Amino acid sequence: MTVLHIRRERLLESIRELSCIGATSNGGVTRFALTGEDRQAREWLQARAKAHDLDSHFDAVGNLFVYCRADAAGGPPVLVGSHVDTVPDGGRYDGALGVLAGLESLISLQESKAQLSRPVWLAVWTEEEGSRFRNGLIGSRAFIGEVAPTELDDADAQGITLASALRNWELEPAQLTEVAREPGQVHAYVELHIEQGAKLDAAGLQVGVVTGIVGIRRYDVSVKGQANHAGTTPMHLRQDALVAAAQMVQSVEQLVKASGHADAVGTVGKLSVQPGGVNVVPGQVDFSLEVRDLETSVMDELVERILSKFREIAYTRNVQLCWELTSDVKPAPLSREIRQTIAEVASDLGYSWQDMPSGAGHDAQHLACICPTGMIFVPSKDGISHSPHEFTADDDCVRGANVLLNTIVQLAK
Ligand SMILES: [Zn+2]
Repeated sequence: MTVLHIRRERLLESIRELSCIGATSNGGVTRFALTGEDRQAREWLQARAKAHDLDSHFDAVGNLFVYCRADAAGGPPVLVGSHVDTVPDGGRYDGALGVLAGLESLISLQESKAQLSRPVWLAVWTEEEGSRFRNGLIGSRAFIGEVAPTELDDADAQGITLASALRNWELEPAQLTEVAREPGQVHAYVELHIEQGAKLDAAGLQVGVVTGIVGIRRYDVSVKGQANHAGTTPMHLRQDALVAAAQMVQSVEQLVKASGHADAVGTVGKLSVQPGGVNVVPGQVDFSLEVRDLETSVMDELVERILSKFREIAYTRNVQLCWELTSDVKPAPLSREIRQTIAEVASDLGYSWQDMPSGAGHDAQHLACICPTGMIFVPSKDGISHSPHEFTADDDCVRGANVLLNTIVQLAK
């Protein structure tokens, strides 16, 4: 196949310019959803699009769509997209790269006068990170009809609700349901994103073809023993909740490692000890348990093994145990056909690539519910992300954008 190339300097300059909006003193970016910085970023994108004869509009939840109005092609569009909101003091590439490479692809298609039979749209999704409104992925969820009207009442740390944040942008939250698309209304979705992990960087590979986005299951676990005087309670008479919990935490690592599922991960990331005195035997420990994998069956199996180990430890140590499922996000396998297209495009461009799962959540996981969806990863230096030290080399940004552009051509031709 003949391959197209994006304009390298134009893409790199756009990454530099966007990173100035919401720039922090230590080289990071803070751009929370639906704030002044977010608006400035989107208006900057609109102006850039307009300068290249591309049109744009906002939907009721602040998703920004960029497209070619003069597009002769009809039917459901090929959609590309990502987000421009960030975590506090986040990096310059997370989300931004996918949006800017998408815009650059649209501009390149326009300039190349490529004959496509489908329209191509860029989507800039609202509140992916959940840094301001806790649930995150709001724009892409609204797009598939998965935002309940009650979520409009969710408030940020200042007490401003999602509905009023939208109204401040002169959007009409009551039109939430009009944002949603049905299966068949989008031909395909492709998202370019930095890996946010170290696999590509460590392997010296240039492109990741994402096989799927992992499911995430979270539990709150509570271990109750008996708080008591640390000086007068002999060791053999203690019901120390922390010692029991410590064994449980270790068992999570051991069981997941020993499971033989290479992509599975299990984490205890939060733990609190009550009453928390230097001279008190811990009476209660509450901790989080999170398991991620690409397969629901693997998650089921791991959770089953972990919880039965917890039960065994609780019995042996004479403490009470209870747990509660707090969230269960299903894995999102991505389209085999689009994966194959991405791999072929990468090979034709002469780039090295490998299949890999995404361990992080992305807007693409929701789009996968209504249309064939693919994701392209490029390396994150040392796997660092959500940090001012997040870095993806210029060459990798350009390679990712070239893979995106040519994947669009294949999907829209
Ligand atoms: Zn992201």
